Amino acid sequence: MSYSWHHQRRFNAFTNFCQQKFGERIQKLSINAGFTCPNRDGTVSTGGCIYCNNAAFNPSYCSPEKSITQQINEGIEFHAVRYRRADKYLAYFQSYSNTHAPLELLKIKFEEALQHPAIIGLVIGTRPDCVDNDKLDYLLQLSRKCFISVEYGVESCYNKTLEKLNRGHNFEQSVAAIEATAQRKIHTGIHLIFGLPGESREEMMQEASILSKLPVSTIKFHQLQIIKNTSLEAMFRTKPEQFHIFKLDEYIDFIIDFCELLNPSIMIERFTAEVPPAFHVTGGFGLLRTDQILQKIEKRMEERNTWQGRSYL
Ligand code: SF4
Repeated sequence: MSYSWHHQRRFNAFTNFCQQKFGERIQKLSINAGFTCPNRDGTVSTGGCIYCNNAAFNPSYCSPEKSITQQINEGIEFHAVRYRRADKYLAYFQSYSNTHAPLELLKIKFEEALQHPAIIGLVIGTRPDCVDNDKLDYLLQLSRKCFISVEYGVESCYNKTLEKLNRGHNFEQSVAAIEATAQRKIHTGIHLIFGLPGESREEMMQEASILSKLPVSTIKFHQLQIIKNTSLEAMFRTKPEQFHIFKLDEYIDFIIDFCELLNPSIMIERFTAEVPPAFHVTGGFGLLRTDQILQKIEKRMEERNTWQGRSYL
C-alpha cells in the first residue's frame, strides 16, 4: 500500500513529517511564559474551562519565575535524562493562552526563545479568540525564518458543548482563526476532545468530516479525562450518568474509526492525552504511557487492515 504521506505507517504522523523536514528527531520543550488566559483573567470569564487544571500537564522545570532561556536549558537537561537525546528543539509555549498579551510582549518572549542556539522553531498554544491580524502577520514573518506552529484549542465542533465547557468562544471563532492562520501558510494545529458530556458517538464521528474541510495541518486528539480540582470533577461526581468515559480497547477502535473518516492530508500528532496518575479521578488508561497506547493503536490498525482516510470522501 502506498500512502499519500510517503511512509509506511498507517496514519499521517507528525513525527515522521518532522524527521523528513528536519532530518532528525526533534523534541518539544514546554515553556510557561507567564501569560494568562482570557477565560480566567476576566477578559471573557473568570471561571475557566470546566476541565482545566494547568498544573496537570506542566513539567516541573516550567515556571514563569524563570526566564525563557533558563526554562529551555532546564528542559534540555530534563529530557536528556529521560528520553533519547535530541539536538534540535521546538519551544512549546504551552501553559494558558500564549497570544493573550500585547504584540510587543509576545515579540520579546518568542524572540528570546528563538535566540537560543538549540531552538529551531516555536509551537504556540492558544485560543481561537486570542489572535488578530497583527499577531498573525508577525508570526507569518517569523515563519519565513523558522518553523512556527499555532495550536488552537478547538475541543469540539459543537457550540452546545463549548457552552457546557464554559470555553467562552464558539466554533465559528475556531474556524475563523484556523482559516486566518492557514491563509498565511503558518502551520495550523488543533486540539479535539472526545467523550465530552452530551456528545453522541455519531456527533463525534461527524466532527471528522467537519474538520476535514478546514485547512488544518496537525491534529491532537484527547480522550476526556476527569482531572482533580476542576469543575468537571464536581459535575462528574454529581451526575456520573452524563459522562461516557472511554475504556482503552473501546477508545482504540473508536479513534481508528474516526481516522478512517479523516482527511489524509491532516497530520496526527497524538491520539491520547496523558496526565500524571495523581491528577486522575477515573484512573484514565491506567499506567500505560502515550507511546504504549500508540503501539496498540498501530497494531490494531494492522489487524483491521485499515488506515487514515480510508473512508474519507
Ligand atoms: S482556555 Fe485553556 S488555559 Fe484557559 S481555562 Fe480553558 S483550558 Fe484553561
